[in-house]
Amino acid sequence: MKYELTIIGGGPAGVSAGIYAARKKIKTIIIAESFGGQSITSADIQNWIGTKSVSGFDLAQNLEAHLRAQEDIEIKDGVRVEKVERIGESSVASPLPLASEGHGKAMEGKGERFKISLSNGEFIETKYILLTNGSHRRKLGVRGEKELDGHGVAYCSTCDIPLFKNKVVAVVGGGNAGLEGVRDGLPYVSKIYLFVRGEVLRGDPISQAMAKNSDKVEILYNTEIIEILGDKEVVGVKIKNSKTNEVSELKLDGVFIEIGSEPNSDLVKDISGINLNQFKEVVVNHKTQQAAPGIWAAGDISDVLYKQNNISSGDAVKAVLNIYDALHGVDRMKQE
Ligand SMILES: Cc1cc2nc3c(=O)[nH]c(=O)nc-3n(C[C@H](O)[C@H](O)[C@H](O)COP(=O)(O)OP(=O)(O)OC[C@H]3O[C@@H](n4cnc5c(N)ncnc54)[C@H](O)[C@@H]3O)c2cc1C
Repeated sequence: MKYELTIIGGGPAGVSAGIYAARKKIKTIIIAESFGGQSITSADIQNWIGTKSVSGFDLAQNLEAHLRAQEDIEIKDGVRVEKVERIGESSVASPLPLASEGHGKAMEGKGERFKISLSNGEFIETKYILLTNGSHRRKLGVRGEKELDGHGVAYCSTCDIPLFKNKVVAVVGGGNAGLEGVRDGLPYVSKIYLFVRGEVLRGDPISQAMAKNSDKVEILYNTEIIEILGDKEVVGVKIKNSKTNEVSELKLDGVFIEIGSEPNSDLVKDISGINLNQFKEVVVNHKTQQAAPGIWAAGDISDVLYKQNNISSGDAVKAVLNIYDALHGVDRMKQE
């Protein structure tokens, strides 16, 4: 089956792109492992424009319903894209025009075609791809983390903290994500160890004060987990003080790892013409969202400075309008 456009991802970027692509009558398929994106775990989103307050779960349902209301789009959900291959020519030599270089020239690609392999064994052939597959929570990479994932190791305090009522937990991460974990934990748990790798907290001042002023919170600076202990459930952690090199053990019941996100860019890291920056973000031209001949990217997978629902949505719309132009042979970069 051949498509003009394949959108990968069902977060705010993917769904916004899908709605615009359908309304532009672009022959599109959207492949989404799930709908809603990362903020699905949020109890209360208060900055989704046009909605004073919505839970992440309700936002996910609204996004999916809006997408399914479109007539002209094929939707494949519950399926992962496993591999992306370029099977047509491309003029990869053309450099990515940077926003800072003015409008530059658009990337020309002749006869781009891609083969996309899905987790259900199916293949898709497509002319263009829009990457909106976002990012995932960063892992610690220590012994016990994988083995005890879901058995005391957790990555979403908003989702899982009620399971730790009156228990002792650790939150790893001294940024806003870590402090949000502390905030989520305070009404439930009996004690929180906050492990901070550096010498200071990095989150916003109000959240820092909340953690510092709570009797329930013990902040351990210069501290890294080197092993999560437990057979079937988490029973403790082995920690190391990076200043003194002292290793010690603490008894606790849960570990919330809140150390940020990493883009899901492995899928395209070897595709000709794609550039990943030091954060593994897909570098795009911010005027068009184009990343390489035949490939556009929007939202948290891209090198956009601010990672937000509204921004992901708007950038994805920008990408689809540029893809529509490309399909009709219109090059606005050349026109300017
Ligand atoms: C806890 C939390 C709370 C947040 N709260 C807010 C907030 O209040 N306001 C705000 O503006 N922003 C918030 N954010 C940030 C916001 O969630 C992100 O900026 C936004 O979700 C990015 O959207 P996206 O569509 O680019 O990617 P994502 O939301 O990451 O969505 C990626 C999509 O791609 C799918 N996918 C991934 N890999 C594949 C694959 N291989 N094949 C198929 N599908 C795949 C996923 O299932 C998902 O549907 C929050 C983030 C977190 C983690």
